[in-house]
Amino acid sequence: MPMTKTQLLAWIDKQNAVFCDKKEYLTDLDAAIGDADHGINMNRGFAKVMEKLPTVADKDLPTILKTVGMTLMSSVGGASGPLYGTFWMKGAMALDGKTEMTTADFKAFLEAAVGGIVQRGRPELGDKTMYDLWGPVLAAVKAAEDATPLAEVVAAALPVAEAALAATIPLQARKGRASYLGERSIGHPDPGATSSLFMLQTLREALG
Ligand code: ADP
Ligand code: MG
Repeated sequence: MPMTKTQLLAWIDKQNAVFCDKKEYLTDLDAAIGDADHGINMNRGFAKVMEKLPTVADKDLPTILKTVGMTLMSSVGGASGPLYGTFWMKGAMALDGKTEMTTADFKAFLEAAVGGIVQRGRPELGDKTMYDLWGPVLAAVKAAEDATPLAEVVAAALPVAEAALAATIPLQARKGRASYLGERSIGHPDPGATSSLFMLQTLREALG
């Protein structure tokens, strides 16, 4: 079954809720290897998204996704604002005019969205960034059959995402502020990979 617009709006709503709940947790993770603002950034960004959402809730999926991206881009500072902003905006462009998202559509969405992160941040696998999560997740999603229901595809990607997040712990950061710490960045999960896992978990919930 494809993702309906109601489910997309539920996904965004659930991300807002998780970034309220996990604001301190994400900020604490960022305190260990960055500048202690990742939770604040995500919380502020999704609060703005929730303000904007009613103005586009009756539009098609790409319009809603583009609004999420543009809002994050303009309201979230630091590295993650432009990275997540690009994620949603590029993803939106892959769904021209769609009013629901099939598994094939989601593959196209995610490929474009993750491509946006790569284009913007130039991360490589192993740099200890959100891309260390999205790279393996994208590969898992693309390997699924188009006929597999989207909820199953996302459920199957979750353990991949959890393992990918855990795998960031022993890495030394080579991108972003955490890279300034050198070897002291070892032993902590990447904050952006953690917020990315929350995005996937809330998608799973929204799809039921
Ligand atoms: P800032 O680092 O500017 O304070 P945030 O704290 O909101 O921004 O986000 C930090 C997260 O951004 C990191 O945990 C990492 O996942 C991600 N990140 C930083 N630089 C890059 C990059 N060049 N490519 C991909 N992701 C990056
Ligand atoms: Mg930070």
